[in-house]
Amino acid sequence: MIDVAPEGVFVKCPKCNESLRVNKKYIGQNIQCKLCSHRYELDLSDPKFESFSIFARCPHCEKELRASEKYLGSKVACKYCHGKIKLLRLSD
Ligand SMILES: [Zn+2]
Ligand SMILES: [Zn+2]
Repeated sequence: MIDVAPEGVFVKCPKCNESLRVNKKYIGQNIQCKLCSHRYELDLSDPKFESFSIFARCPHCEKELRASEKYLGSKVACKYCHGKIKLLRLSD
């Protein structure tokens, strides 16, 4: 079992609903939507960001995986190579 830290998140802009791919270093900071230029704080504890997704790199096949935040802290299988990984929580 290999622990894998998420590299970032996919969140929806609260204004236009456009999905943005954001590096995790911007969590807790103000970001700007590429589509509508709306600025907002990426506070993932805010209910408006419920059911966001995360992306992480599979250590077995190097492909990028996307998963629902509900799998953070869980053991999952890579959908490409079926390698087993444990997704770490964003705060780990
Ligand atoms: Zn927007
Ligand atoms: Zn894989």
